[in-house]
Amino acid sequence: MQPVFRFAPSPNGYLHLGHALSALLNHDMAREMGGRFLLRIEDIDAARCRPEYEAAIYEDLAWLGVEWEQPVRRQSGHLADYAAARDRLMALGLLYPSAESRAAIAQLVAAREREGPWPRDPDGAPLYPGFAKASSAAERARIIGSGAPYALRLDTRRAEERTGPLAWEECGHGPDGQTGTIAAAPQMWGDVVLARKDVPTSYHLAVVVDDAAQGVTHVVRGCDLFWSTSVHRLLQTLLGCPAPLYRHHRLIRDAEGKKLSKSTGATGLRALRRQGVTPADIRRLIGPP
Ligand code: GLU
Repeated sequence: MQPVFRFAPSPNGYLHLGHALSALLNHDMAREMGGRFLLRIEDIDAARCRPEYEAAIYEDLAWLGVEWEQPVRRQSGHLADYAAARDRLMALGLLYPSAESRAAIAQLVAAREREGPWPRDPDGAPLYPGFAKASSAAERARIIGSGAPYALRLDTRRAEERTGPLAWEECGHGPDGQTGTIAAAPQMWGDVVLARKDVPTSYHLAVVVDDAAQGVTHVVRGCDLFWSTSVHRLLQTLLGCPAPLYRHHRLIRDAEGKKLSKSTGATGLRALRRQGVTPADIRRLIGPP
């Protein structure tokens, strides 16, 4: 089977050195293994994605010397695929609507934290503290029919009961050096949001649907997404999608040791290019994977 790699940036800012590492690693691995290299534009967050950032992605990658196949898959063009996956999970009884506002959820978390520590996900966000999972079928139908905003959350415990224990093969490493066969732990994320009233997907659902639709065999990305793989393995199994191999790579940090963000001008590929930095210099700056 021909290996298939992808680089999947979100057009919500300019690419920086961390993106260069990811794009070049995917591209070079595809070359070395006689595989394909795909570019995917993850633009489901309409509020944050902008056409000029997407145009800049193409420009910066071409400058780096990366070549990708056409057509590029843009997530905003595949909402019907995500809606179909959402509906399958719904039909399995694994999603439930929760209608609390962000402020109401923050209040619930604060109330829980007054009683003791409340668990947080690997990104540091508190797990969903609400009670919507316990609501009756009639109440769920009322929320969905009400016209008011709601999130569709995965009943993670029930989903795991259905699949049994899951794992993935890690050829890179996690944030604490984890490698080899990794036991998936989707409970770390609590009942994650997989869709909303007006958007039929979230990052997790779209990635799983796209990787399967594009036949991706190797997922190579930053180790900040290492534990997201737990949710991805769960969704892949529920939706009957194959499991890719994973290689999470180190993150590039700024002088203060912080993860690079898209607003970090100094490490932006465009800013570096304007200073006369060459693609060969970029490879030296990011160092070996
Ligand atoms: N779109 C994600 C990001 O820009 C990457 C998704 C992935 O590689 O799975 O961080």
